[in-house]
Amino acid sequence: MTRTLTILGATGSVGSQALDLVTRNPGRWQVEALTANSDVEGLAKAARACGARFAAIADETAYAALKDALAGTDIEVAAGKDAICEAARRPGEVVLTAIVGAAGLGPTLAAVERGATLGIANKETLVCAGPVVTAAAKASGARLLPVDSEHNAVFQVFDHDQPDRVAKIILTCSGGPFRTRARAELKTVSVADACKHPTWSMGAKISIDSATLMNKGLELIEAWHLFPVGAEKLDVIIHPQSVVHSMVEYVDGSVLAQLGSPDMRIPIAYAMAWPERIATPAARLDLARIGSLTFEAPDLERFPCLALAWDALRAGGSAPCILNAANEVAVAAFIAGQVSFLDIDAIVAATLSRLPAGPVGSLAEVLAVDADARRVAGDEVRARLP
Ligand code: NDP
Repeated sequence: MTRTLTILGATGSVGSQALDLVTRNPGRWQVEALTANSDVEGLAKAARACGARFAAIADETAYAALKDALAGTDIEVAAGKDAICEAARRPGEVVLTAIVGAAGLGPTLAAVERGATLGIANKETLVCAGPVVTAAAKASGARLLPVDSEHNAVFQVFDHDQPDRVAKIILTCSGGPFRTRARAELKTVSVADACKHPTWSMGAKISIDSATLMNKGLELIEAWHLFPVGAEKLDVIIHPQSVVHSMVEYVDGSVLAQLGSPDMRIPIAYAMAWPERIATPAARLDLARIGSLTFEAPDLERFPCLALAWDALRAGGSAPCILNAANEVAVAAFIAGQVSFLDIDAIVAATLSRLPAGPVGSLAEVLAVDADARRVAGDEVRARLP
C-alpha cells in the first residue's frame, strides 16, 4: 500500500539517503513534501525526481529561483520558515525529520501536533525540547520512531511491554576520528580532519559532534526522552567498528544487540517502512571478514563534551537546551574558522556555567532559553577570536 511521505531536510545526508530508498521502492511512497534550507538546485532536482507535491525552502530570498527551477511542473512552491512548518503540516503519513539543529524544532512539532508518524533523525529537537515534543506526541497520538542508528537499534531490541525489566541501555560510539589522539594534538586539527569520520559518512555538523563526542552526549539525552528508564540506566561504550549499533541489558543478565553494516539506509528504511521491514542496498554484515569487535570505556577527560552532556542531563530543565544551543554556535564558529577545535567544549562549558538551569515547560520557554544561550555562546566565541 502506498504511504505518503514528507522529508524535512531532503537535501542533506539523511534526506538524500531517504530519497534513494524512495527511488529504489517504486509505489511504496508518494512524496507529499520536501524541504531544504538554501539548496535550490538540490531541492528542485529531488522534487522533480520523486514527483513531490510541495517543495519548501527556508531561505525566503530563494523563492523565485525555486519557482523557476520547478517551472513546468505541478509542484507547489513556498519559501520561508513558515513554509517548512507548512510542509510538516501537510498530510504526509510519515514525516522524516532530517533538518540539522534546533531549526528542526518548529516543523517537527507541527508534524507531531497533527499526529503523524515521525522518523526522527533531528536529535537536537528532542535534546532542546524533549518534554514539549513528547507531551505533544502523547496528546496527538503521534508515533516517534528513532532514525539515529543507536536509538533505532535500541528501539528494535527494547521490550516495549516491560520497560521495567530493562537494566541498562548501552549506546555504542565509534570514538570519532580522534579516538586515539592526545588532547594536546587536537588544538590544531582542521574542519576537514574533524569531518573524516572513520565509519559513517554524514553531514558536517554531526561529523564534528562525533569528533568531540558531543554527538554521543546529545544521543544520551535523546535516549532519555525516547526510552524512559532513567538516566542512571544509560551508558556509553566506545566500539570503533560501528557494527553493534547499541544494546539493551535486561534484569536477568541477557544483553540484546542490533548489528549491521554502518549504512544509515538501514535505520532510515526501518523508520520509513515501519512496521514492515524492507530490503535495502546496505552491504551485508560479514563478521568473518571483520574478525573482531572491540570495546573500550570513553575518556571523558580528552572528550569533555560527553561529560558536559551527562551533567546537563542530570541537571535537567533548561540545561540540555543550553548545551545544544551553545554547541551549535561553537561548531558553526569552528566551521567558519573563528575558533579552534578545543574551543568547542570550552565555549559550551562557559555558556552552561553562565546560564544556570531553570525549569522549561512550554515551547516559548524553550525558544527563549535557546536564544539566550546562543547570545552568551556568541559572546564566548567573540572572546576567543584570534
Ligand atoms: P546535513 O547537514 O547533511 O543536512 C541538513 C538538512 O537540513 C539539509 O537539507 C539542509 O538544507 C537542511 N537545513 C539546514 N538548516 C536548516 C534550516 N535552518 N531550516 C531548514 N532546513 C535546514 O545534515 P545530516 O543529514 O547529516 O543530519 C540531519 C540530522 O540528522 C541532524 O540532526 C543529525 O544529527 C541527524 N543524524 C544524521 C546522521 C547522518 O548519517 N548524517 C545520522 C544520525 C542522525 P540545505 O541543504 O539547503 O542546507
